[in-house]
Amino acid sequence: MDASIESRVDREVEAWLRWVPRWRPGTHRARSRLCQQCLGSPVLKAAGLVTDVPHAVQHPLSMRIKTIVEDEVENYTAQNLPMLDRELGLIEERRAAQAYRPLEGLGPEFDGIDLDAPPPEPDSPYLFTFEELAQPLSADDPELVPPPLTIEEKAALRVEMRLADDFATLVGKRVCAALAGHRAELRRAVDTFVEPQVQALLADLGSTLDPHGT
Ligand SMILES: [Zn+2]
Repeated sequence: MDASIESRVDREVEAWLRWVPRWRPGTHRARSRLCQQCLGSPVLKAAGLVTDVPHAVQHPLSMRIKTIVEDEVENYTAQNLPMLDRELGLIEERRAAQAYRPLEGLGPEFDGIDLDAPPPEPDSPYLFTFEELAQPLSADDPELVPPPLTIEEKAALRVEMRLADDFATLVGKRVCAALAGHRAELRRAVDTFVEPQVQALLADLGSTLDPHGT
């Protein structure tokens, strides 16, 4: 972790500031669930964007900052936490293996075709069936399941997980401190480009609800 965190925050803030003037209120339905990334986010709090800012405006900034923290933690883990790095790599491998589904996306011309029908001639070479290829590579796949961790390894892994958490907290604090330095320009952008559109929407809504203007 070095001064690059602050400069990355600067860059993401700049990108967000370039985007805000193009923001328009969405016509899509409101989200049915609250966003886990933005709700109670210390990042948005540090940025001063918690109140009176539409979620669609908050969210891109949350995500940009989240990426910085994730990248930093990933680098730190790769360099300093070998056990955790290995475990995360294995999880990633398993996920990638499961994502490979040869039967999906085959196209409509294959619909209804018995893909693993035996070959018509019993003596013709037949190496594998689609069905075999499509077997889910689950956690049971022996090649992907490493031997269970020993008690010592588990303890070491727990220590590394705590170190990764501590590091994430540290990065989070630095990111928030850097964001707080941008608070004034972030607010100015919201006041200039977002708030007038929100007010216009509210005015529209008011005249719809009260057509006689009484
Ligand atoms: Zn969000």
